[in-house]
Amino acid sequence: MNSTEVYVLFGPPGVGKGTQGELIEKKFNCSRISTGDIFRENIRNQTELGIEAKSYIDKGELVPDSVTLGMVENAIVEVAKNNSIIILDGFPRNVNQAEVLDDICEKYHYVLKCVIALNADDNVIIQRLSDRLTCKKCGTTFHKIYNKPSKEGVCDKCGGELYQRSDDTPHAIANRLDTYRSTTEPVLNYYQHSGKLAEIDASASPEDISKTVFKLFSS
Ligand SMILES: [Zn+2]
Repeated sequence: MNSTEVYVLFGPPGVGKGTQGELIEKKFNCSRISTGDIFRENIRNQTELGIEAKSYIDKGELVPDSVTLGMVENAIVEVAKNNSIIILDGFPRNVNQAEVLDDICEKYHYVLKCVIALNADDNVIIQRLSDRLTCKKCGTTFHKIYNKPSKEGVCDKCGGELYQRSDDTPHAIANRLDTYRSTTEPVLNYYQHSGKLAEIDASASPEDISKTVFKLFSS
Protein backbone atom coordinates (compact mmCIF):
# COMPACT_ATOMS: atom_id res chain seq x y z
CA MET A 1 0.00 0.00 0.00
CA ASN A 2 1.19 3.52 -0.79
CA SER A 3 1.85 5.77 2.15
CA THR A 4 -0.93 8.02 3.35
CA GLU A 5 -0.90 11.49 1.83
CA VAL A 6 -1.62 14.48 4.05
CA TYR A 7 -3.02 17.79 2.80
CA VAL A 8 -3.34 20.86 5.02
CA LEU A 9 -6.17 23.37 4.60
CA PHE A 10 -4.81 26.58 5.99
CA GLY A 11 -6.18 30.07 6.53
CA PRO A 12 -7.89 32.49 8.92
CA PRO A 13 -11.16 31.63 10.67
CA GLY A 14 -14.12 32.14 8.35
CA VAL A 15 -12.10 31.96 5.13
CA GLY A 16 -13.99 28.84 4.03
CA LYS A 17 -11.74 25.96 5.08
CA GLY A 18 -14.70 23.93 6.30
CA THR A 19 -16.69 24.50 3.11
CA GLN A 20 -13.73 23.59 0.89
CA GLY A 21 -12.93 20.59 3.05
CA GLU A 22 -16.44 19.24 2.60
CA LEU A 23 -16.32 19.79 -1.17
CA ILE A 24 -12.97 17.99 -1.42
CA GLU A 25 -14.27 15.10 0.68
CA LYS A 26 -17.27 14.70 -1.63
CA LYS A 27 -15.25 14.88 -4.85
CA PHE A 28 -12.22 12.83 -3.91
CA ASN A 29 -11.98 9.67 -1.94
CA CYS A 30 -10.51 11.06 1.24
CA SER A 31 -11.23 11.91 4.82
CA ARG A 32 -11.11 15.28 6.55
CA ILE A 33 -9.96 15.86 10.08
CA SER A 34 -11.19 19.12 11.51
CA THR A 35 -9.77 20.21 14.83
CA GLY A 36 -13.14 21.92 15.35
CA ASP A 37 -14.85 18.52 15.11
CA ILE A 38 -12.31 16.94 17.42
CA PHE A 39 -12.85 19.72 19.95
CA ARG A 40 -16.66 19.47 19.63
CA GLU A 41 -16.56 15.73 20.17
CA ASN A 42 -14.45 16.13 23.29
CA ILE A 43 -16.61 19.01 24.53
CA ARG A 44 -19.82 17.05 23.92
CA ASN A 45 -18.41 14.07 25.79
CA GLN A 46 -17.20 16.43 28.52
CA THR A 47 -13.73 14.97 28.51
CA GLU A 48 -11.18 16.74 30.64
CA LEU A 49 -9.47 18.09 27.52
CA GLY A 50 -12.83 19.09 26.07
CA ILE A 51 -13.80 21.17 29.07
CA GLU A 52 -10.40 22.83 29.02
CA ALA A 53 -10.63 23.48 25.27
CA LYS A 54 -14.08 25.07 25.65
CA SER A 55 -12.86 27.62 28.16
CA TYR A 56 -10.40 28.96 25.56
CA ILE A 57 -12.77 28.79 22.59
CA ASP A 58 -15.43 30.78 24.47
CA LYS A 59 -12.94 33.60 24.96
CA GLY A 60 -11.95 33.57 21.29
CA GLU A 61 -8.51 32.30 22.22
CA LEU A 62 -6.58 29.46 20.62
CA VAL A 63 -6.61 26.17 22.45
CA PRO A 64 -3.07 25.54 23.79
CA ASP A 65 -0.89 22.82 22.25
CA SER A 66 -0.88 20.79 25.44
CA VAL A 67 -4.61 20.25 24.89
CA THR A 68 -4.58 19.95 21.11
CA LEU A 69 -1.63 17.76 20.10
CA GLY A 70 -2.61 14.48 21.74
CA MET A 71 -6.17 14.66 20.40
CA VAL A 72 -4.96 15.44 16.88
CA GLU A 73 -2.29 12.75 16.65
CA ASN A 74 -4.77 10.10 17.77
CA ALA A 75 -7.32 11.29 15.23
CA ILE A 76 -4.82 11.25 12.36
CA VAL A 77 -3.58 7.75 13.15
CA GLU A 78 -7.14 6.48 13.49
CA VAL A 79 -8.27 7.96 10.15
CA ALA A 80 -5.09 6.85 8.33
CA LYS A 81 -5.96 3.21 9.01
CA ASN A 82 -8.75 3.37 6.41
CA ASN A 83 -7.81 6.32 4.20
CA SER A 84 -4.95 6.99 1.83
CA ILE A 85 -5.63 10.74 1.69
CA ILE A 86 -6.17 12.90 4.76
CA ILE A 87 -7.17 16.56 4.80
CA LEU A 88 -6.29 18.52 7.91
CA ASP A 89 -8.57 21.47 8.58
CA GLY A 90 -7.49 23.85 11.33
CA PHE A 91 -4.14 22.19 12.02
CA PRO A 92 -1.31 23.21 12.28
CA ARG A 93 -2.16 26.52 13.90
CA ASN A 94 1.32 27.58 14.94
CA VAL A 95 4.93 26.79 14.07
CA ASN A 96 5.27 24.33 16.94
CA GLN A 97 2.30 22.34 15.63
CA ALA A 98 3.79 22.43 12.10
CA GLU A 99 6.97 20.89 13.48
CA VAL A 100 4.97 18.25 15.35
CA LEU A 101 3.07 17.44 12.14
CA ASP A 102 6.42 16.82 10.41
CA ASP A 103 7.35 14.52 13.30
CA ILE A 104 4.04 12.65 13.02
CA CYS A 105 4.53 12.18 9.26
CA GLU A 106 8.04 10.86 9.81
CA LYS A 107 6.98 8.56 12.63
CA TYR A 108 4.11 6.93 10.72
CA HIS A 109 5.57 7.29 7.19
CA TYR A 110 2.91 9.69 5.92
CA VAL A 111 3.71 12.15 3.12
CA LEU A 112 2.82 15.81 3.54
CA LYS A 113 1.75 16.62 -0.03
CA CYS A 114 0.46 20.18 -0.01
CA VAL A 115 -0.41 23.10 2.23
CA ILE A 116 -3.41 24.86 0.69
CA ALA A 117 -3.43 28.37 2.10
CA LEU A 118 -6.69 30.29 1.66
CA ASN A 119 -6.62 34.01 2.34
CA ALA A 120 -8.98 36.98 2.30
CA ASP A 121 -9.12 40.50 3.73
CA ASP A 122 -10.24 40.94 7.32
CA ASN A 123 -13.45 42.76 6.32
CA VAL A 124 -14.49 39.88 4.05
CA ILE A 125 -13.90 37.44 6.90
CA ILE A 126 -15.75 39.51 9.49
CA GLN A 127 -18.72 39.75 7.13
CA ARG A 128 -18.76 36.00 6.57
CA LEU A 129 -18.37 35.04 10.20
CA SER A 130 -20.85 37.42 11.76
CA ASP A 131 -23.59 35.91 9.56
CA ARG A 132 -22.49 32.35 10.14
CA LEU A 133 -24.76 29.73 11.67
CA THR A 134 -23.48 26.48 13.14
CA CYS A 135 -25.32 23.24 13.83
CA LYS A 136 -25.35 22.36 17.53
CA LYS A 137 -25.35 18.66 16.76
CA CYS A 138 -22.95 18.05 13.86
CA GLY A 139 -21.02 21.33 13.50
CA THR A 140 -21.97 21.96 9.86
CA THR A 141 -21.94 25.67 9.09
CA PHE A 142 -24.42 27.75 7.10
CA HIS A 143 -24.58 31.42 6.17
CA LYS A 144 -27.55 33.72 6.67
CA ILE A 145 -27.21 35.05 3.11
CA TYR A 146 -24.90 32.89 0.98
CA ASN A 147 -25.59 29.42 2.27
CA LYS A 148 -29.05 29.39 3.84
CA PRO A 149 -30.45 26.19 5.32
CA SER A 150 -33.59 24.95 3.52
CA LYS A 151 -35.56 25.49 6.72
CA GLU A 152 -34.74 28.43 8.95
CA GLY A 153 -32.86 27.49 12.10
CA VAL A 154 -32.59 23.81 11.16
CA CYS A 155 -29.56 21.88 9.89
CA ASP A 156 -30.03 20.35 6.42
CA LYS A 157 -27.78 17.44 7.27
CA CYS A 158 -29.01 16.20 10.62
CA GLY A 159 -32.01 18.32 11.64
CA GLY A 160 -30.06 19.83 14.53
CA GLU A 161 -30.63 23.34 15.85
CA LEU A 162 -28.59 26.17 14.26
CA TYR A 163 -27.08 28.85 16.47
CA GLN A 164 -24.52 31.62 16.38
CA ARG A 165 -21.33 30.47 18.01
CA SER A 166 -20.16 32.38 21.05
CA ASP A 167 -16.93 33.16 19.18
CA ASP A 168 -18.74 34.46 16.07
CA THR A 169 -19.59 37.81 17.67
CA PRO A 170 -17.75 40.89 16.26
CA HIS A 171 -15.57 41.27 19.35
CA ALA A 172 -14.53 37.62 19.49
CA ILE A 173 -13.95 37.59 15.70
CA ALA A 174 -11.58 40.57 15.93
CA ASN A 175 -9.79 38.77 18.74
CA ARG A 176 -9.50 35.56 16.69
CA LEU A 177 -8.15 37.44 13.66
CA ASP A 178 -5.50 39.16 15.80
CA THR A 179 -4.43 35.83 17.20
CA TYR A 180 -4.41 34.31 13.72
CA ARG A 181 -2.22 37.04 12.21
CA SER A 182 0.30 36.93 15.07
CA THR A 183 0.41 33.21 15.87
CA THR A 184 -0.87 31.20 12.93
CA GLU A 185 0.22 33.17 9.87
CA PRO A 186 3.95 32.59 10.63
CA VAL A 187 3.29 28.94 9.72
CA LEU A 188 3.29 30.13 6.08
CA ASN A 189 6.94 31.11 6.45
CA TYR A 190 7.64 27.67 7.83
CA TYR A 191 6.32 26.10 4.62
CA GLN A 192 7.54 28.84 2.26
CA HIS A 193 10.64 27.00 1.11
CA SER A 194 9.22 23.49 1.22
CA GLY A 195 7.79 23.73 -2.30
CA LYS A 196 4.49 22.46 -0.86
CA LEU A 197 2.72 25.75 -0.30
CA ALA A 198 -0.17 26.76 -2.59
CA GLU A 199 -1.63 30.18 -1.80
CA ILE A 200 -5.19 30.83 -2.98
CA ASP A 201 -7.27 34.01 -2.98
CA ALA A 202 -10.43 33.05 -1.10
CA SER A 203 -12.46 36.21 -1.57
CA ALA A 204 -14.17 34.57 -4.59
CA SER A 205 -17.27 32.36 -4.37
CA PRO A 206 -16.89 28.86 -2.86
CA GLU A 207 -17.44 27.31 -6.32
CA ASP A 208 -14.64 29.36 -7.90
CA ILE A 209 -12.27 28.64 -5.03
CA SER A 210 -12.96 24.92 -5.25
CA LYS A 211 -12.03 24.85 -8.94
CA THR A 212 -8.55 26.04 -8.01
CA VAL A 213 -8.34 23.74 -5.00
CA PHE A 214 -9.45 20.65 -6.96
CA LYS A 215 -6.60 21.15 -9.42
CA LEU A 216 -4.14 20.62 -6.56
CA PHE A 217 -5.65 17.21 -5.94
CA SER A 218 -5.91 15.99 -9.50
CA SER A 219 -2.33 16.96 -10.30
ZN1 LIG B 1 -26.35 19.21 11.78
